[in-house]
Amino acid sequence: MTALLEVKNLAKSFGGIKAVRDVTIDIQAHSISSIIGPNGAGKTTFFNLLTGIYKPDEGKIIFDGRSLIGLRPDQVNKAGVARTFQTIRLFAGMTVLENVMVGMHSRLTISLPQTLLRTRAFREQEQRVRERASELLRFVGLAGRGDEISRNLPYGDQRRVEIARALASDPKLILLDEPTAGMNPNESDEAMTLFRRVRDELGVTVVLIEHDMRVVMGISEHISVLDYGEKIAEGTPAEIRSNMRVIEAYLGRRAIGTKEGAHGAA
Ligand code: ATP
Repeated sequence: MTALLEVKNLAKSFGGIKAVRDVTIDIQAHSISSIIGPNGAGKTTFFNLLTGIYKPDEGKIIFDGRSLIGLRPDQVNKAGVARTFQTIRLFAGMTVLENVMVGMHSRLTISLPQTLLRTRAFREQEQRVRERASELLRFVGLAGRGDEISRNLPYGDQRRVEIARALASDPKLILLDEPTAGMNPNESDEAMTLFRRVRDELGVTVVLIEHDMRVVMGISEHISVLDYGEKIAEGTPAEIRSNMRVIEAYLGRRAIGTKEGAHGAA
């Protein structure tokens, strides 16, 4: 089976800190995977390397048969990788629909002069973009909410808008950085249902960074565990649950509630 994403021996240091060291991870097409690990384990740095925010010191990133190394974030997005961030990054004063339309910019073909002149081609494209954005809002459960100002939406709904915006670029892979942070159990359940639908109905491969073990164990088909920048384990939820290295490095500290041990507590 060929992986949609093949990461080999990836490494990135910041000064003396080896944030990601020699990480090799394969993500199978149409899977739902999670990257877990204590705070500071290197998870977000890993996403930042995949999406062109940082350039790796070493290693390979092959997505859909082509290398992503050296591409800018917008080029990575165009290649089919979308992401959401740990903290919500919506344009708070813009409408919900406009925020989703922004996500489509990497797919637009109209030139600046055409935009300025508001040519027919421009108007037609704008109409298509609006329709697609409305469709995506319906998909994430926000039908009819497009005209609301984003900051007025409840937190869980703002997260949905972010997912709609990421989907607007028509990705093959979506990277979700702590998508259920700050949600109550009911909202997390709804979020899990949405992530499954993203995979099942849109065919998009899903990778989450997630701290909530209920979500991780509930949704992931495959889990990779990072600790101090290193991949210390990978496998199915059942394998990860019973992996002694993981229990010691992460789940154990968490389970026994010793914050000191979790280098920052997860
Ligand atoms: P969290 O769960 O808290 O989000 P994480 O697993 O995502 O943590 P990272 O944010 O990737 O971890 O950080 C890994 C290490 O790299 C940490 O020690 C962090 O301080 C360091 N680091 C990350 N980004 C930078 C940066 N731009 N400059 C310097 N150090 C950084």
